[in-house]
Amino acid sequence: MTYDLAVVGGTLVSGSGRKRADILVSGGRVVEVAAGAAAGADANRVVDASGKLVLPGMVDVHVHTREPGYTHKEDLVTCTRAAAAGGVTTIFGMPNLDPPTVTGTYLEEVLDLYRAKSIVDYNHNPVPAHGETEAMAESGVAAFKVYMVVDTGRTYPHPAGTGIHDHGHLLQMFEDVAATGRVFMVHPHDQALMDHVEQGYWKKGDRSPEAYAKTLAAYDGIIWDTATATLLRMAKATGCRLHIVHVQTIEGIEMIRRAKAEGVQVTAEVNHWALFLGTWDDVLELGPYCLSYWVPDHHRAAVWDAINDGTIDIVSSDHAPHTRAEKDVGWEDMWAAHTGTPGIQHQVPLLLDAAHHGKLTIERVVEVMAEVPARSFDIGSKGFLEPGFDADLMIVDPAKEWTIANDGVLSKIGWTPYDGREVVGAVERTFLRGIEIYGDGTVKGEPGFGRHVKPSLTRGMP
Ligand SMILES: [Zn+2]
Repeated sequence: MTYDLAVVGGTLVSGSGRKRADILVSGGRVVEVAAGAAAGADANRVVDASGKLVLPGMVDVHVHTREPGYTHKEDLVTCTRAAAAGGVTTIFGMPNLDPPTVTGTYLEEVLDLYRAKSIVDYNHNPVPAHGETEAMAESGVAAFKVYMVVDTGRTYPHPAGTGIHDHGHLLQMFEDVAATGRVFMVHPHDQALMDHVEQGYWKKGDRSPEAYAKTLAAYDGIIWDTATATLLRMAKATGCRLHIVHVQTIEGIEMIRRAKAEGVQVTAEVNHWALFLGTWDDVLELGPYCLSYWVPDHHRAAVWDAINDGTIDIVSSDHAPHTRAEKDVGWEDMWAAHTGTPGIQHQVPLLLDAAHHGKLTIERVVEVMAEVPARSFDIGSKGFLEPGFDADLMIVDPAKEWTIANDGVLSKIGWTPYDGREVVGAVERTFLRGIEIYGDGTVKGEPGFGRHVKPSLTRGMP
């Protein structure tokens, strides 16, 4: 037979180790993986990966595409171009859009937009707060998403209907999502504690980025930890599969570790800023461009330990682009600025750089960015480079030294908090279902190539 693609001579990395192997691809799927498999085989395209690593494409389960509603920040084409350049082959979009994804009708509208525009494969996480949870699950969503956040002093980034901090309503959502067998992704946050702490700063007239950072980190993470305790207890009560985002405190990690040992179905996610940004020096220097959050050093050390011992399961980008104007108001009033940072294009290189510096192995990188997200959200065709799986892969040069810079940013906003950061490790080529979507420094994927990847019905937790 003639194969569509042969990737030859590379070193394949999975969570269980690395091996020299060729990959043969036909019809968008991996057909054979073995040393020397390409010798004598007929292929329409042969890619030489000698001296390079071959990794499964990243399954990024937390992405803010901004379309519909906020396309001055980003849209599905620019977002998924950045994804392709970053080795990301599947994204899960978040519901804080306009209209927010809170009903089946809005969900279908969003899925139509992906179908027309996405360069990479996709899923989308709607809010299960408004009585249409079962029907939306049947549309093929892998997970539902809610924030325990209601913004104070602004209506974004958590528009009406996406933030629920009433515990009764939250428990209702756990019950409803449990009935669907899907995963419930929640941003842990105790709004009443936030209100109390922030008012202390406001009374002093302090609305600086430092005050905002200290508010969210108050009492060593109490705003995070009380919410995490509530979520874990609700997951235990209902049997709902819970995915907690932004896990970045010591007590939060300890609670999740205990809950897992008890058999609670929970996965934990950390985002690039908790690993590579968000030191106090970053807060001082970058101000609103640093925030999302301040992650004090003792918490950051615990996060790294939890990644390496498996308590933290998934690293995702939480790609959250905002314009410079939306950030710059934060120098005067951080509560008026939009929080969140872009990251989809640079997270894999930052992880490769971390591996180069011995913070984790590349095998663990593959687990947290591809294997575990695919398995945790029942995306059975993704995450592994084995026969039968989609041929989603990236070819990386683990020794390439380069500098992240604003002028290489593909996201519409044109900036990254990592501007000037020197890293070792680069994504050279990205393939989605056997088709090159990024290579030679250019995005080659076409809008509309991405497909809706639906979860399989078998439930499986790592
Ligand atoms: Zn987010």
